[in-house]
Amino acid sequence: MTQEISEELLTQCMHCGLCLSVCPTYALTGLERSSPRGRIRLMKNAMDGTIPFSETFKYEMDFCLDCQACQTACPAGVEYGKLVESARALIAARKTGIDIKRIILRRLFGGRTWFRLAASLLRFYQKSGLEKFLLNLTSGLKGDFFARARLLPRLSERFSIDFLPEKIEARGTPRGKTAVLTGCVMDAMFADANVDTVEVLVRNGWQVAVPHDQVCCGSVSAHSGDMELARKLAVRNMDVFEKTGAEYYVINSAGCSAFMKEYRELFASDPVYSKKAEEFSSKVKEFSEFISETGYMKPSVKFDVPVTYHEPCHLVHTQKISGQPRSVVKDLAGQNFRELGEATWCCGSAGIYNVTHVEAAASLLERKLGNIEKSGAKVVVTGNPGCIAQIAAGARNDGKEIEVLHLATALNRLYKSEEDA
Ligand code: SF4
Ligand code: SF4
Repeated sequence: MTQEISEELLTQCMHCGLCLSVCPTYALTGLERSSPRGRIRLMKNAMDGTIPFSETFKYEMDFCLDCQACQTACPAGVEYGKLVESARALIAARKTGIDIKRIILRRLFGGRTWFRLAASLLRFYQKSGLEKFLLNLTSGLKGDFFARARLLPRLSERFSIDFLPEKIEARGTPRGKTAVLTGCVMDAMFADANVDTVEVLVRNGWQVAVPHDQVCCGSVSAHSGDMELARKLAVRNMDVFEKTGAEYYVINSAGCSAFMKEYRELFASDPVYSKKAEEFSSKVKEFSEFISETGYMKPSVKFDVPVTYHEPCHLVHTQKISGQPRSVVKDLAGQNFRELGEATWCCGSAGIYNVTHVEAAASLLERKLGNIEKSGAKVVVTGNPGCIAQIAAGARNDGKEIEVLHLATALNRLYKSEEDA
């Protein structure tokens, strides 16, 4: 994640093409340049000066979902995620003039004020009935603006960080100390999933710290090439989480946990933060990874409707976490578990991809919804806020009665049913 694209990483690609069949953007366009192999070639050419930093190069780096499905498929172990993020950082560094996207992202994710203001405005828009009125009024209209408006996720009533205490004691015999990230997007849209995460941990004997001065993990900034802001946010989180004295940092958003595990690489050559980042990242556990490794109480009640599992890209491809959440979902669904075709295929959310690439994201969502329909599931469990929002909005717009739940919510729901029984 430097402002150069590593020659060593680039030369690992042997151009075998085995990654092509798993690449969603290649599937959409059929163009070599929209494939992992094609993009690697574009990067090589740009680095050795064979082609300039052309619009095609910039377009393709941006068009890539950074889903990293190609990384999973690659027999040569090409670290594609690092390559595309370096390419984006390089493009961002070479930009001249006013970069509106960067300014907006900096405002929204650099601190809490603007993000909260934006969330409050959206909340008002939804609660006042204005959204419903405008959507009805524009229901027949086509275009990116209207498509974005229809995909707007439901916002939570409140941020969980505003009402969760900074320390919550474990139930029963204490097993140790954890700390959780409430996140920015996660908390704006799925504050209830944050509460469920805390409750699941507490019910399983973990003390939970919720540091109130935590900030965004930095992943949105890093994925859009703003490494400077990503590092600044990472430093703040490392300092804040260290003070909790927790043994584990349990992160319930796949995108955030993937990036927080990368702090160690982000600061590998930093004389002040390299050791701290190494320690920090070694404590980061994604929610399903954590409960699977440490063990959790299995509820005796099961879901009584068909349930399936959608694999978030940053969980299955970036962190190689697949068996753990699937096994938990199977536990919760019992005989009602249904396999999802193309479960590891991106749903089109991909950070802010569904905002920046409306048409491509809509095609991927349609494909995902088709597979869900084929599975017969009425509940889709997953582990990333973007995926929950994207699939839920798609199902809502299509009039499908499908509930999309975070894994922590699914588990806590059964714990509560067990108590009520
Ligand atoms: S990225 Fe990997 S799978 Fe794709 S062409 Fe290169 S070596 Fe082959
Ligand atoms: S990250 Fe995803 S979209 Fe990008 S090249 Fe790889 S498979 Fe294709």
